[in-house]
Amino acid sequence: MDADPVRLRAVIDDLKLVDQHVHRVLPGPITVAQFELLLTESDQPAPAGTSQFDSQLGFAVRRWCGPVLRLSPAASAAEYLRHRDSAAPAAALLAAAGCSHLLIDTGFAAPGSMPLDEMATLSGAVVREVVRLEAVAEDLAAAGCTASAFAAAFPEELWRRCTEAVATKSIVAYRHGLDFDPARPGGAEVTAAAGRWLREVEARGDVRLTDPVLLRHVLWTAAERGLPIQMHTGFGDPDLDLRRADPLLAREFLASCGVPVVLLHCYPYHRQAGYLAQAYPNVYVDLGLTLNYTGARAPVVLAETLELAPFSKVLYSSDAYGLPELVYLGARLWRNAMTEVLGAWVAARQWSEADAVRVVAMIGAGNAARLYGLAAPAAAR
Ligand SMILES: [Zn+2]
Repeated sequence: MDADPVRLRAVIDDLKLVDQHVHRVLPGPITVAQFELLLTESDQPAPAGTSQFDSQLGFAVRRWCGPVLRLSPAASAAEYLRHRDSAAPAAALLAAAGCSHLLIDTGFAAPGSMPLDEMATLSGAVVREVVRLEAVAEDLAAAGCTASAFAAAFPEELWRRCTEAVATKSIVAYRHGLDFDPARPGGAEVTAAAGRWLREVEARGDVRLTDPVLLRHVLWTAAERGLPIQMHTGFGDPDLDLRRADPLLAREFLASCGVPVVLLHCYPYHRQAGYLAQAYPNVYVDLGLTLNYTGARAPVVLAETLELAPFSKVLYSSDAYGLPELVYLGARLWRNAMTEVLGAWVAARQWSEADAVRVVAMIGAGNAARLYGLAAPAAAR
């Protein structure tokens, strides 16, 4: 079969995506300092005399988001920022992303982010919720739950919060590391740990959950609930110890938890994640965050992930947070990378074009629809 890159590109550009892990974004104008902080995983401003725009992510925002806001792709960072606030960026960028569904992690959002119904209206997508486990436990502590009640109250509250949700989300990588004890903790152990934690909460006035026993309790309770668990792995902000975010460290939990686990982000452990997705039928892999941050190098990371990961186990997400730019950019860079990588394999006659088209539909939408039980979108874009 002759390769037709134009046809493959058209199929990829027209596909409605399931963005299977994304956060709420800011609706209106934002300051330059805010924008800069949302262009990095660092929690600190760029050093004096430098800009976060001088990065793969910053270059990609100007190159790909500029034209959606009717700016030249060659516009400088200052021109981009001057122009964006008068260009209704959220409406333009969310619509241009071309998503059928947004699965939104509601446990973490930039202050002032738009509500879920506005995300749905502006994107034209169906919005479904992903429930962050540690936030549910922290809400219980803030509401005055006692140590003796915690072990039983957490499942009850999680069941209530998950009524409409499609998945849960774990940040055990942030709060402990993926080298946690894979065994399920017993009831007495959980009650003793809850006692220690709640005394600390009272003393410090801060509910942040870092106790390893309780982190395992919430994770195993989520496994019992049965929804797919989205698990942070790989890079993130400096709250994380990247050395302990390699998904291989969670291998025994992944092998024994009995529910689908989606490894999020993964970089620079995306090859390890691809291996795990091949080794374990319940493990899935996702490059949200990573494609945005690697920008022009995204095709390389995508190709490396597709070395071992079965194509039926790879999912699309943007992991956008705060900036509507990141919802659009995730989709754009995924479409560009899929076109480049799969197009090259078709051109080299390693893959048929028909297979490439089928894999695009699987990774962009079909795998997520099957995993989360999503209804098919009403109409193609
Ligand atoms: Zn996220």
